[in-house]
Amino acid sequence: MKSKTIYVDLDDVLCQTARHFLVIVEREFNKRIAYEELTDFDVGSSCGLAPAETDELYRIVHRPDELLRMAPIDAAIAALRQWAADGYEIAIVTGRPPESFEPSTAWLARYGVPHHSFTMVDKYARFQTENTVAIGLDELTQREYCWAVEDSLPMAQFLATRMQLPVALIDCPWNRCAADHANVGRYADWPTLARQMARIDMR
Ligand SMILES: [Mg+2]
Repeated sequence: MKSKTIYVDLDDVLCQTARHFLVIVEREFNKRIAYEELTDFDVGSSCGLAPAETDELYRIVHRPDELLRMAPIDAAIAALRQWAADGYEIAIVTGRPPESFEPSTAWLARYGVPHHSFTMVDKYARFQTENTVAIGLDELTQREYCWAVEDSLPMAQFLATRMQLPVALIDCPWNRCAADHANVGRYADWPTLARQMARIDMR
């Protein structure tokens, strides 16, 4: 039987990560950047931060109090509830580092985000996975999903090519920089995606 598990990313798919980055950038570095200016997946370069400032930004962003403060995307949570009710399993697959495990799962609990599993994957070669709860991309390819929801273009392309998955890409300023892959469908937002999914057979 085909998998009935949907891969769902966390940052900027379920929670307003980039918008929270901008709050921190203004507070800590005194720079006011508009959301639409985030045209690079690396927030540091989008905001014109020096490498040391970018490192500091990532340290601050991953503090438990900051992770817990991020706002949820309500339409995403509503869609996940519907999919779970329709018999799908929700696998949340994040590129956050293993140290963020507890605040991340606490955040999911705080907002009642339906999910059957929570997996940390070194999506961008940013951390070590040995002796941690996290897995690497090779191990991810062994998992079975029916399709995926992502905001990261490189990750969407990986899922579409290496794993042959249909991918719903949530349109964001940082993922408009390349032609879309045949397996990647671009959606303006969650309500559009949820409406589309309600109409088609989700395999
Ligand atoms: Mg993301």
